[in-house]
Amino acid sequence: MRPALRRLFLRALASDALAAREDGEWRTRCLHCRRRLHVRADGEALGHATLEHVVPQAWFGKRAAATLTARVGDDANDARNLAVACAGCNHGKGVSHDARGPQDERAREVVARLLESRLARWRAPETDDDEG
Ligand SMILES: [Zn+2]
Repeated sequence: MRPALRRLFLRALASDALAAREDGEWRTRCLHCRRRLHVRADGEALGHATLEHVVPQAWFGKRAAATLTARVGDDANDARNLAVACAGCNHGKGVSHDARGPQDERAREVVARLLESRLARWRAPETDDDEG
């Protein structure tokens, strides 16, 4: 797995209140279905774990998504926009509302609700755990 992607996993996990590091791996739950997911301590995804961009990357810079992207600092890779999701959920999202785009009201609602779920799980990352 690419080092850049590992860093994004670790960024998501460090700021996820449900994530705990034990026995050399991170354990958390899928943002969608709360299934248990595992990521190696170095950020390598295990099993069904995938990295989810809560507000789809393609929505950034689009006016219809401006209120959503502003909530994550207009940065798709901001920790607030990153979550661990199982492959089935992440893929299902990708082929449904993401594809419809931010001009679709229903798609915006679904993403807004997902972002609320993500922010409800927010915890401030420890400063000495900075990415290097
Ligand atoms: Zn899931």
